[in-house]
Amino acid sequence: MSVKAKKHLGQHFLTDENIAKKIADTLSLVGYNSILEIGPGMGVLTKYLLDKKDKTTYVIEIDPESVEFLKSKFLDLAPRIIEEDFLKYDFKEVFSNKPFAVIGNFPYNISTQIVFKVLELRDQIPEFSGMFQKEVAQRICQKEGSKVYGILSVLTQAFYNAEYLFTVSPSVFSPPPKVNSGVLRLTRKKKYTLSCDEKLFFKVVKTAFQQRRKTLRNSLKTFNLSDNLREDVIFGKRPEQLSVKEFINLSTMIQEDVKKQ
Ligand code: SAH
Repeated sequence: MSVKAKKHLGQHFLTDENIAKKIADTLSLVGYNSILEIGPGMGVLTKYLLDKKDKTTYVIEIDPESVEFLKSKFLDLAPRIIEEDFLKYDFKEVFSNKPFAVIGNFPYNISTQIVFKVLELRDQIPEFSGMFQKEVAQRICQKEGSKVYGILSVLTQAFYNAEYLFTVSPSVFSPPPKVNSGVLRLTRKKKYTLSCDEKLFFKVVKTAFQQRRKTLRNSLKTFNLSDNLREDVIFGKRPEQLSVKEFINLSTMIQEDVKKQ
């Protein structure tokens, strides 16, 4: 018995056991007792997670056919299979306020949304690792100056150290995806609260990258900043030139400017 791959759920099942084990082993296991796997499918990663005996593994899977399969294959896991949409599920129900790590060979059609939800839940997620399409994994980990550096890179790296670990070729999946895949790890920073208003920071980063070819002086017009502030050299730059730290400083400057007006 096996699960029939469904395209609309981004199902590409990993068939290489060595790679599955290598992905499961990307977790440091420090700072939490629970692990949540997103999209276990037929459980290729799950069995290596279940080997980590001092941690409790939960899985969340949207596909009823995969859930049936997992229930019959991993009898002990059954009470910890959550048959829900990761993007909509309220994790307080299972974890209350306790920390948990997130891992997966993720459904690529919702990659960005998965990262945004993890960022929302950052107080509870000290570690995150797994596989995305290669471009997304690279984008998350890139530094300023790179063409693919963008919203996802800055927002993630404000709270997490991001490491691109290794590339996986389409040939080890069934059915093979059209793109290469990349495995990354995010480790939450020791100090992950920002020195500026965090809501404003998100807004500044998103607004700046919406027009990534323009200088900040032009792209941040909607913030109604004082002429004095807009003359600062930083406003002559384009968003991809700013480090995460500079985005935080910029947000602080904007915050002060708005207060003064
Ligand atoms: N981890 C497995 C399957 C990867 S395919 C493997 O490596 O073989 C991606 C999996 O994510 C599929 O099983 C799919 O059903 C599941 N999935 C897709 N969207 C989801 C969602 N919103 N919430 C939870 N699981 C989802």
